[in-house]
Amino acid sequence: MEISGRKFLIVGFARSGQAAARFLLQRGASVAVTDVRTSDSLKDQLAALPSTVEAILGEHRLEDFVQADCVVLSPGVPASLPQVRQAMSRGVEVISEVELAYRFLNGTIVGITGSNGKTTTVTLLAELLKTSGIDAWAAGNIGKPLIAFAASGGRRGDEVGTSAQSALAGAGHRDRVYVAELSSFQLETIRDFRCACALLLNITPDHLDRYPSFDHYRQAKERIFLNQQPQDWAVLNADDPLSIGATPRIHSRTFPFSRRQELKEGVFLRRGRIVCRLQDTEQEILGAAEVRLKGSHNLENALAAVAAGRLMGAEPQAIAETLRRFRGVEHRLEHCASHQGVDYYNDSKATNPDSALKAVEAFDSPLIVIMGGFDKGAGFDSLRPSLARHAKQVILIGATAARMQSDLSGAVPLLQAGDLETALDAAREVASSGDTILLAPACASFDQFEDYEHRGREFKRLVQALAQGGDPAAEPGGTGAARQVS
Ligand code: ADP
Repeated sequence: MEISGRKFLIVGFARSGQAAARFLLQRGASVAVTDVRTSDSLKDQLAALPSTVEAILGEHRLEDFVQADCVVLSPGVPASLPQVRQAMSRGVEVISEVELAYRFLNGTIVGITGSNGKTTTVTLLAELLKTSGIDAWAAGNIGKPLIAFAASGGRRGDEVGTSAQSALAGAGHRDRVYVAELSSFQLETIRDFRCACALLLNITPDHLDRYPSFDHYRQAKERIFLNQQPQDWAVLNADDPLSIGATPRIHSRTFPFSRRQELKEGVFLRRGRIVCRLQDTEQEILGAAEVRLKGSHNLENALAAVAAGRLMGAEPQAIAETLRRFRGVEHRLEHCASHQGVDYYNDSKATNPDSALKAVEAFDSPLIVIMGGFDKGAGFDSLRPSLARHAKQVILIGATAARMQSDLSGAVPLLQAGDLETALDAAREVASSGDTILLAPACASFDQFEDYEHRGREFKRLVQALAQGGDPAAEPGGTGAARQVS
């Protein structure tokens, strides 16, 4: 791909947009960036770039898109943006940051997509590969964007460690493995991007405000398999009809995982133990109860990571060791305090109904759940049975509070609190020893917060203040301080 002397427009100026700008500048491109955020919030990032970079902030101007030689989209930017569509229709090349990275990257790519569980599985898989001595790197939300790893020229290692034979022999040790998180938006604008191993964890309604239909969303997710060759691998969730349902459209070898059924080939549970069966070789990895992550959804993530880990040459021993110690990722079912017999969990990343449902189902103790936020167009009826079973109270905040009130009414006691602080106060009043207070919004955060991380940090700050102001003697362990778990 020619870069030098060509005019690039980078859309979205967060971490990946900044890394893309640096990469392109190093290679002699003329670079402009555009973001709907204003220069105030992007001051520091802009200061780090040479003054030759043109920054168009606070708006996306059509002329910048159509006059570029190539438009590079950041992970959160949909290809349905009118300016992007116009540029495409006028023949401008539009690619995602991962496509750009792919063209210049050395190493093998394991791509992970799905409605939920991407970051957790990416992090876990990179960890267990590393524990196995493989030169593995997490790319995406955690770690660096893929483009930041891109180096000029060099050999791409698609073929290494991808045959079952070499996987069993551990040949993946010879090369670097990038474990990349891929959103549906990123996948929309890949062209040559190819995963030696591609995982589709699950597909449930999300981002329906940004897709014409659920089927368009599913099709975007399935693009992860687009350029796979027969020697590549597709890891599919046999318990998710839409994940396993992609099989007829996939050209690579499929390797499924299941929490519910024994498989002829794949990773599954047998009598409470995780088993991997690959080319007639069967290995028991560890007991499901030994997996440190909480919840059946995280068990699915673990099975997916075991499957891809084995295909990439990770040793069963190293896999088991990692699963026993891996505590998860911040803002995903994160235990943030125990105070006066009440546990506090932050699952601010539960930004859609399915992830909130999985969070609710991960608990045996009576729950008080704080829910609500920015409206992404999903309904909340699907939460009714689980909330009825697990929750003694739901406290609603944010823009979706009214919609949730009507969708959940009658299933569980509901209380309107407006904002997070009021909700936490209300939750404390209702809670008694042995209960759990869980933040699992089922919605995005943009109505009241910058992003889900801001919302999660705010929750933890409020919980910490509350725990420190309370009676230390009543704290299990007697420390009196909120316990941070990262
Ligand atoms: P993603 O990167 O796809 O958003 P995360 O690992 O960040 O996934 O988790 C996002 C949210 O979904 C969190 O609330 C988490 O608890 C929940 N979650 C994680 N894995 C799954 C899964 N396999 N199915 C459903 N929900 C999940």
